[in-house]
Amino acid sequence: MRRRFDGDRLLIATHNAGKLEEMRQLFGPLGVTVVGGAEMNLAEPEETETTFIGNARIKARAAVEATGLPALADDSGIEIEALDGAPGVYTADWAETPAGRNFHMAMTRTWEKLEAIDAPFPRRARFCCTLLLAWPDGHEEIYEGHAPGQITWPMRGAQGHGYDPIFQPDGYHITFGEMDADQKNRISHRARAFQALIEGSFGR
Ligand code: IMP
Repeated sequence: MRRRFDGDRLLIATHNAGKLEEMRQLFGPLGVTVVGGAEMNLAEPEETETTFIGNARIKARAAVEATGLPALADDSGIEIEALDGAPGVYTADWAETPAGRNFHMAMTRTWEKLEAIDAPFPRRARFCCTLLLAWPDGHEEIYEGHAPGQITWPMRGAQGHGYDPIFQPDGYHITFGEMDADQKNRISHRARAFQALIEGSFGR
């Protein structure tokens, strides 16, 4: 039996503005106001685990401990078949530079790795999202969603964030980067995990 969340304000344990905005759009119709980690002055814990669930748990637990409130954390990334699932939980790390995250560089690096091993087409990949809702008493509910597709080149589309410009979801000829937010929010990994979350923990 899944535990329900019955508040109308939910703490989201992320400092990522793109993710927070997606959450805001997804939760809006449910009448749930989302509050981000930056707004609550939360520190950003280091993501030292090797799985999406492990890293989501680190973020959710840190937020719960700092505030005494239930918190939802998201951990996500892209798994590329020909790279044995890389970058996976290290998706954000591939974009890290001394001057901040550079996704143009990360996407270029990704494509170069596929070229270097002459990976066959289509270059299968999937975006993964784990949502972990944690309560102060230690209880947690975990929901996962995937968006299958392929890596394409060159980058296309200026909408979205992260690796969106090189990911073409199955059934479409445009990338996530070329989709408007509504369209992406109907099929994305986060939307699918979110759908499971609202059915399981919001009873909608
Ligand atoms: P983390 O979940 O904060 O560890 O970061 C996951 C990383 O995966 C993000 O920084 C993005 O680079 C990438 N990512 C996750 N979801 C998406 C998405 O919907 N579009 C593009 N990139 C994404």
